Amino acid sequence: MAYYGDLIFEKSVAGRKGYSLPTSEVEEYTLDSRFAREDAPELPEVSEFDVVRHYTNVSFKNHGIETGFYPLGSCTMKYNPKINLELSSSEKFTALHPYQPVETVQGILKIYYETQRMLSEISGMDTYSLNPFAGAHGELVGLMIMKAFHEHNNESNRTKVIVPDSAHGTNPASAKVAGFDVVEVRSNCEGDSCDGTINLEHLKEVLDEDVAGIMLTNPNTLGMFEKDILEVARLVHEAGGLLYYDGANLNPIMNVARPGDMGFDITHINLHKTFSTPHGGGGPGSGPVGVSKRLKPFLPAPIVRKAGDLYLIDGGAEESIGQISHFLGNMNVIVKAYAYLLSTGRRHLAEISRLSTLNANYVKESLKDDYELPVKENCKHEFVFDGLKDNDEVRAIDVAKRLLDFDMHPPTVYFPLLYGESMMVEPVENESKQTLDAFIETMKHIAKEARENPETLKQAPYHTPVRRLDEAGAARNPRVKFKDLL
Ligand SMILES: *Cc1c(COP(=O)(O)O)cnc(C)c1O
Repeated sequence: MAYYGDLIFEKSVAGRKGYSLPTSEVEEYTLDSRFAREDAPELPEVSEFDVVRHYTNVSFKNHGIETGFYPLGSCTMKYNPKINLELSSSEKFTALHPYQPVETVQGILKIYYETQRMLSEISGMDTYSLNPFAGAHGELVGLMIMKAFHEHNNESNRTKVIVPDSAHGTNPASAKVAGFDVVEVRSNCEGDSCDGTINLEHLKEVLDEDVAGIMLTNPNTLGMFEKDILEVARLVHEAGGLLYYDGANLNPIMNVARPGDMGFDITHINLHKTFSTPHGGGGPGSGPVGVSKRLKPFLPAPIVRKAGDLYLIDGGAEESIGQISHFLGNMNVIVKAYAYLLSTGRRHLAEISRLSTLNANYVKESLKDDYELPVKENCKHEFVFDGLKDNDEVRAIDVAKRLLDFDMHPPTVYFPLLYGESMMVEPVENESKQTLDAFIETMKHIAKEARENPETLKQAPYHTPVRRLDEAGAARNPRVKFKDLL
């Protein structure tokens, strides 16, 4: 219950302050009217209690990983140690200036260099650039490298990029932005159940001398490991194309299997998904791009290099695609990834991979009698249901909304587009068996409600600060200003 208004502006009382300063010992000075504003700034006038309570309460109106389970498939809302956040906001990093002489910033350059090395080792690539700001940005950079490579070899005719029908939307979008034509390749299906793995026969059909490359994520967006990856790599390379690895699903294969060993030539890694940066609300991110040896000259500039004992900022090779971000990328995110990698260590990275896989399979097997499971095999870190079992009335959106009443974030719904009622569940490695069991129990309870009283689900949620929203309307006609609400 709000006792005086929901917005901080409505709590405002003229003259109320949240601070008290000692009497000034400096003589008052009146600013020349040229520099003074004409109207008061309309800031809320509130006490310290008002402001702290207001924002604390507002923070609880949203669901976050600090408040409950968050199995949002494909987005990997996993454990991000708070100590890494604290570390990366240390003045030792934030007070650095990008134009300082390199001798005075050896520490941060060492962090960059060693992060480049560790990512190379984890993914089996030769070198990384840490410059891109997100996965999608990494995709664009990777495709620009692909283009530059083919142009360098006088093969500008290679204008087609192949993406599977299960791909994340950013893949075809990036290919388009980079100036390629997108060709879709079908996944393997039995009847109407498709598992998202590449159909080799169809791949052979679409491979020709105009193909620049293929974009894949492995495991794919259905959580299935691409078992024919070596054959895919052989076919694409034989046709003169390159393989691009979308690293958003690296979580279940870290130090278990390496994209480089599978035949990938270019990769991006979403540091904000796999390596310790919380990313709700769209940022901040980092999407380092790694390449095999033959593509190294095309990497964007600048890049951190080591010469003897000195770390240097290298302007890049002559073939470089150039600069794609200001300075060296998103330092704050890179520092968190570095801290995470060092504190986790090689052996435990593999353990994270195995636990994320175990947890996903545990949840999948526990719920497959209540929810339609198109792909029955073992998954990696995530899997997809296609709605409720034998129930067309209650939809994925209804299940998602009802979960909010039980203080759990819904899975990703309506992605991937292979199924009509996709619910993509990614439990992640750090959740306890008790939390997973609570989720399973809640999902079973919702399935029972769907059978016995579907109308309950159609009206959900009941216990959230707002009920079911007009989501399309909210996106098309957003009202984001205080005055608009009045
Ligand atoms: C998240 C994701 C992307 C895009 O990454 P951003 O960092 O959000 O730009 C690409 N592909 C897959 C499979 C993803 O899950």
